[in-house]
Amino acid sequence: MDARARVPPGVPRLNPTVSYWQSPPAEIATFRSTEDLPTNADYVIVGSGISGACIAHGLLMKRPDASVIMLEARTACSGATGRNGGHTKAASYRTFLEHQRTFGTEEAVKIAQLEHQNIKATEAFAKLHNIDCDIHPCETADVFVAENQWQAALEATKTLNAASACDVETYTIHSASEAQTKFLTPGAIGGITYCAGSISAYKLTIGILKLALEKGLNLQTNTPAISLCSVGRTIDNIWQIATPRGHVTSPNVILATNGYSAHFLPELQGVIVPLRGHCTAQRPGMGLPKPALPMTYSFFYEAGYEYMISRPIGSKGQGDIIIGGGRTIALPNEGLAEFGETNDTVLEPALATYLHGCAAEYFGRNWGRDHSDGREKTTWSGIMGISADGLPYVGSMPGKEGVWISAGFNGHGMVMCLKSAEGLVNLMLDGDVATWFPRSFLMSEDRLKQMTDCTKLNTTNSEDGAKGKIHVSVHVQIRGHQAWLSLSEMLLIESDLSNLKHKQADRQEGRVELGYRDRQMRHFSTPQHANCVGVVPAGHKAGDRQDILPFGSLAHRVSGVMIESRLSFYRSFHRLGFATSAPQTSIIVSIMSSAIAINISDETIAPLSKVDSAVAGLSSSPTDKKISHRRTSSSVSGVFKMEELMFPEEKGQDITIPIETQQLGWKINTPASKVEDPEVLKKFLINPPVKKIDLRTPLGIVMTARNMKGVTIKDALDAIYKANKKKASFEWDKEESWESLIIHTKKEAGGAGMAPSSKKAKKKEEKAAAAADGA
Ligand SMILES: Cc1cc2nc3c(=O)[nH]c(=O)nc-3n(C[C@H](O)[C@H](O)[C@H](O)COP(=O)(O)OP(=O)(O)OC[C@H]3O[C@@H](n4cnc5c(N)ncnc54)[C@H](O)[C@@H]3O)c2cc1C
Repeated sequence: MDARARVPPGVPRLNPTVSYWQSPPAEIATFRSTEDLPTNADYVIVGSGISGACIAHGLLMKRPDASVIMLEARTACSGATGRNGGHTKAASYRTFLEHQRTFGTEEAVKIAQLEHQNIKATEAFAKLHNIDCDIHPCETADVFVAENQWQAALEATKTLNAASACDVETYTIHSASEAQTKFLTPGAIGGITYCAGSISAYKLTIGILKLALEKGLNLQTNTPAISLCSVGRTIDNIWQIATPRGHVTSPNVILATNGYSAHFLPELQGVIVPLRGHCTAQRPGMGLPKPALPMTYSFFYEAGYEYMISRPIGSKGQGDIIIGGGRTIALPNEGLAEFGETNDTVLEPALATYLHGCAAEYFGRNWGRDHSDGREKTTWSGIMGISADGLPYVGSMPGKEGVWISAGFNGHGMVMCLKSAEGLVNLMLDGDVATWFPRSFLMSEDRLKQMTDCTKLNTTNSEDGAKGKIHVSVHVQIRGHQAWLSLSEMLLIESDLSNLKHKQADRQEGRVELGYRDRQMRHFSTPQHANCVGVVPAGHKAGDRQDILPFGSLAHRVSGVMIESRLSFYRSFHRLGFATSAPQTSIIVSIMSSAIAINISDETIAPLSKVDSAVAGLSSSPTDKKISHRRTSSSVSGVFKMEELMFPEEKGQDITIPIETQQLGWKINTPASKVEDPEVLKKFLINPPVKKIDLRTPLGIVMTARNMKGVTIKDALDAIYKANKKKASFEWDKEESWESLIIHTKKEAGGAGMAPSSKKAKKKEEKAAAAADGA
């Protein structure tokens, strides 16, 4: 996730997929209030989604004399707002416990109330201004098909109902049989109903933009803001925004740019991360009630959920089903690759296929035959803005007077944007937010710092050879992320766990458990969970895929004595799993056990008596157990395949790495010949030796070292060197990214994947390198 969070978002791409809502496009889709871009204004708003539209309208209501320009990279409302699922559903209970733990009950109730108020205020606004946006308040059903989610939901609804005096949703619980009958979902194990609704967020936003235009807004569509810089420091700070059509200056720049916000402000990189989502519009099955299902739905399974609305009676396409979600179930690694992804010009095929089938699955026999015109009407993708702590950022950018933001609404903009915009306008014009506004939404230096100071998990281990056990001392520093961690994890933070016991568990499953009292940290190595961090609710059997509720990622660095893991927690993951609502949870760190993590640090590393790579440095049990020298498929006797070591007939075989690997004094962009003591190169990289092994960097780049006679240290260094020896060229592709250049890396002759064709050539290359070094 760290790697995904570091991908710069750039500006929105041209020619995105067309959503159900954007067909046909609004008449102001390509509108420009003036032919030329004005050169200055009192306020410049970047982004024409619901946030930008509400801010523009709010500003002009309160300051009718102000000049306000809105820059939109593509057509009006072409971001998440124009391509969402149309669900106005707060489901506040799903985050309430977490907010309560982090901010206290009063603030948690305030957040729930804002969400509830946002739905009411949207309805009232549309009604007051006569905006035709198919707004449809109705009952919603949360249908559960997984026990962990169901139990967590029961606990959370009970707590929220008890805590909140008024003005939040009230929940009705339904048993399995009630849920199956009432909601037509044969697989339900329980259900919860409350008030929610559906809307065409596109029509609503276009309606608000039109109101703002009437009040004097200058809208400039197809005008991407490329960069933001401060100019002139006379009385006020003045900001200049560059666009392909010229510059605009203003003392006030408002970023309503959601997932793209880090493009302007590098300090937001990793704080608001783009996440690509998908939705599909379908004709309902012939067995479902006509003319439309009376309620909206969400379907909760172990590690995620889908959300679904039915187009209301009387609207265009009445009865059509819009369903979104599916990322965590349809894609590898719970859809990790969709984070940092801003390409909404295409669909992720596996996700599109999953969404095509899932509604019919949930309704089972009640779905009936497909409509004669086919099920699918259209499918599209869109970019959300995922905030690192799960709450939006509203307010003034620290250290950048005059730069304001309202962004990072995750998948819940329809229940947060309107009230957040109101809060921001109050702050800009009155100097403070009203008391109803949750202060936890406010942008501040502290909050930003907490988010950028990534969670750190430092694990140090030492060997107690006498007992043949490992004593692991764990010190977990978690700054800014306490909110998301369970009580048990908090304990881990507070304590110096000098007696964390190492217990070797079922190696067949590639699992090692570290237990501390009744709490456990688990290291997994299943292909699905490489580089994931998650939690297991108490009482759940560890090791089962469905018990893993991932909520972050891991880039770990093995430096012989220390594993340093940077854990970036993203509540969006967390939220899905209800991790913190479980009374006890444990951290799971999953790694690829068949790969050795490579230390590419420049730091001096204290020598270790022994390093074991079974779990990337954590386990270092003495290997007094003998490898079974049964006949294997290896061409050389005693040289194994990695899988043979992972799943030996006898359990409990460890592999070891020679201590010399920790003291090579070698840089990855130099050939193996640069190693101080060439003798060490001949040593096997691991014992027992293997024919092939993957070497993985902390960012997950994998290189493979091979040698049928057993991979040596030299083979490993060669593989790394080849992968890192590249020539670069530059390209400007304005459609891909106007303001940045693309670096193309070409392997040098003899570079990765292009090993010298002959042994002679290889030797020559090594000689040349050695000569260059004066060796
Ligand atoms: C597939 C999908 C389904 C969703 N479903 C739901 C749902 O059912 N219910 C719900 O509550 N929420 C849902 N959401 C989330 C919700 O749509 C968002 O939280 C909300 O629309 C955010 O509104 P916004 O105005 O802040 O951002 P956006 O609507 O994303 O607006 C940002 C605007 O800024 C523009 N922009 C960005 N960078 C630049 C630049 N450099 N120059 C000029 N313009 C720029 C973009 O083009 C865009 O128009 C969904 C989101 C997606 C993607």
